[in-house]
Amino acid sequence: MSFENLNLHPTIVKAVLDAGYTSPTPIQQQAIPELIAGHDVMASAQTGTGKTAAFMLPALHRLTVPAKIRSRGPRILVLTPTRELALQVSEATNKYGKFLSRVNVVSILGGMPYPLQNKLLSRTVDILVATPGRLIDHIERGRIDFSRLEMLILDEADRMLDMGFIQDVERIAAKVPANRQTLLFSATLDNTIEKIAAHLLNNPKRIQI
Ligand code: AMP
Repeated sequence: MSFENLNLHPTIVKAVLDAGYTSPTPIQQQAIPELIAGHDVMASAQTGTGKTAAFMLPALHRLTVPAKIRSRGPRILVLTPTRELALQVSEATNKYGKFLSRVNVVSILGGMPYPLQNKLLSRTVDILVATPGRLIDHIERGRIDFSRLEMLILDEADRMLDMGFIQDVERIAAKVPANRQTLLFSATLDNTIEKIAAHLLNNPKRIQI
């Protein structure tokens, strides 16, 4: 299978080919068609499998269609357990989205100064990549408008659980539109993760790598 067969927008295919990727990895082959079709997805995939592109290429593909709601708030929200992972996701997003015009990617991480984050959040945001604790602070201060949020992505959900962020994740999920598309990626899918998924995802397609 090649990237050209996945029905992704040509500018996204161009960016991955430019990054030197020749064919989609197994998680990409399985997840991308389900995500483009609009399904929720729950996938077990370790770091190194190409999971970031598996969720970010369909997320960027969504942005090639104009938002239905006029707002400056994010259309895509990615929650990650750590600052390091959030930065990696942002970097990958910029790489895969480099030929798309006007995609604003903002990272909101613990430890970053609030005035800078407030400034970033006052502009139009397309993709917001955040760690849960700091995002909750901004939500409580009324700084984020989730009215046009289309996609909620939980990356490394098992680590967010281990690090005690799951309550924050659930609080954030309760603030975003119920008709969003939800993705959960986790190295392991145990009973606790299954329960969280049952609560936050809608009839998800399951992918095991
Ligand atoms: P990830 O699992 O998302 O952390 O990705 C692991 C590494 O694989 C990253 O360095 C990506 O740049 C790379 N990668 C992702 N997808 C592909 C692909 N289809 N072909 C080659 N490398 C890839």
